[in-house]
Amino acid sequence: HACLETLGVNQLKQGDTFYSVLTGNTVALGQGEAFSAHSPIDGAKLSQFNNATPAQLDAVNAELQEAFKALRVIPAPRRGELVRRIGEEARKYKHELAQVISLEAGKILPEALGEVQEWIDVCDFAVGQSRMLHGLSIVSERPGHRMMEQWHPLGPVAVITAFNFPMAVWAWNAMLGLVCGDPILLKPSEKAPLCALAMYQIAQNVIADMPDIPKASVSVMIGGRDLGEAISSSPVFPLVSATGSTAMGKAVAETVAKRLGRSLLELGGNNAMIVSDTADLDLALRAIVFSAAGTAGQRCTTLRRLITHETIVDGLVERVAKAYSSLRIGNPMEEGNLVGPLIDEGSFARMQSALEAAKAQGGEVVFGGERVAENVPAGGFYVRPAIVRIAHDAPIVHEETFAPILYVLTYSDFEEALEIQNEVPQGLSSAVFTESMREAELFMSPAGSDCGIANVNIGTSGAEIGGAFGGEKETGGGRESGSDAWRNYMRRTTNTVNYGGDLPLAQGIVFE
Ligand code: NAD
Repeated sequence: HACLETLGVNQLKQGDTFYSVLTGNTVALGQGEAFSAHSPIDGAKLSQFNNATPAQLDAVNAELQEAFKALRVIPAPRRGELVRRIGEEARKYKHELAQVISLEAGKILPEALGEVQEWIDVCDFAVGQSRMLHGLSIVSERPGHRMMEQWHPLGPVAVITAFNFPMAVWAWNAMLGLVCGDPILLKPSEKAPLCALAMYQIAQNVIADMPDIPKASVSVMIGGRDLGEAISSSPVFPLVSATGSTAMGKAVAETVAKRLGRSLLELGGNNAMIVSDTADLDLALRAIVFSAAGTAGQRCTTLRRLITHETIVDGLVERVAKAYSSLRIGNPMEEGNLVGPLIDEGSFARMQSALEAAKAQGGEVVFGGERVAENVPAGGFYVRPAIVRIAHDAPIVHEETFAPILYVLTYSDFEEALEIQNEVPQGLSSAVFTESMREAELFMSPAGSDCGIANVNIGTSGAEIGGAFGGEKETGGGRESGSDAWRNYMRRTTNTVNYGGDLPLAQGIVFE
């Protein structure tokens, strides 16, 4: 593929096998089992690796610790300059980077370009942040004393990512982590390892021209679950940022908590939209189709539950089905296609068993769900997005199936809609479509949606980088990207300074 050649990824291999350990100083093949990654577009083999082993992690950890010693004392605005240049380099290769995302994750090109844009945007955000790593100054209760907070670099940060946002999730963590002074070790999804190599190459191109920046500041290790477990249990990482399924997040949280490290978790969602009887249905329709069928239902923020007022449900379902029937399904790299493939056969099988479960639990598949074989590349798993009418409390509705299934539920009064919205174990994204100010405000109030993201007259997916991104309950509680998410990557120290000639004790204690 020409994009891999242009990005220099094709040089990162020995024979046919790509390197699995890349720290800037060292590149090495993995010493574990061989595996290959395939394109969801047509099932063709894209790359071959050997898993990096936990034993190889030790050498990388030593490099990361050295890198941290240098990086933590480089002024933050200079670290911002590193990120600024990484953003420039990503701009230059935006198209090629998007093609790698399409090849490995199966995203349509406009969405893949959007993902690279997210990386670029978060660079701009982080550059500004590099001059705003502010602490507070606090009044002291003692005469001749002053108190202040400082935010210091935390240490090497491990970033474990999912297949579906192979560049943006690393960028959210890494661009902020770097300005905060932390070297970043990425362990990408084994389904999208070339994206990791492409990002590594972009960053190392920049570091090559900045001799003061330690190369290992941007490192990658390719491997599976056992490497992820070894990283989680290593005390070298004060912070492990992990994005993926709730099952993975629970495992990481337990391992990291055992050594009292911090974890930053971005896990599964089960996102809902309430459509009120007052809603602007033209607007709602567009939001539903993009949120539910976009990215073939493989976003953590994909719309999975449509909680519709009972008086408008029939007409709305009809309109969504009509819109779905005109969505072009096919090769994500061809212009005009809006729905690409599922990531692999396992994902297709899980979608089919969820649809079977829905039927067994009283649901009715009113549209789609089947595999599409016409006008799509052979070897890929393409599906028609499904619409299922079902009761809100059917057990399958409370699970995240990472595929395009939209469950349509009904409500009669708004309080009931809110209860349905909040009754699932996940708490990532939510939305309401309403023209009623009271409903909109109630939805965003303490008695409203319990999710990390609560939108009004906007769909559940497609967040901007300026806000803090993440969710509650089984979504893991982490917040990344904008707002004050940078604090995750720093440690806070409280300093009290005595500039007087006495030593008064706090709380007025007398000790003499
Ligand atoms: P996954 O859980 O299968 O894998 C994610 C990553 O975790 C991979 O790198 C994998 O190797 C690693 N891993 C697996 N088990 C591990 C363990 N025990 N210890 C350490 N690492 C381990 O997820 P996936 O299929 O790649 O991605 C889809 C899931 O990710 C969905 O549930 C989706 O909602 C979620 N997701 C969440 C967000 C968010 O921001 N909340 C964003 C994207 C995806």
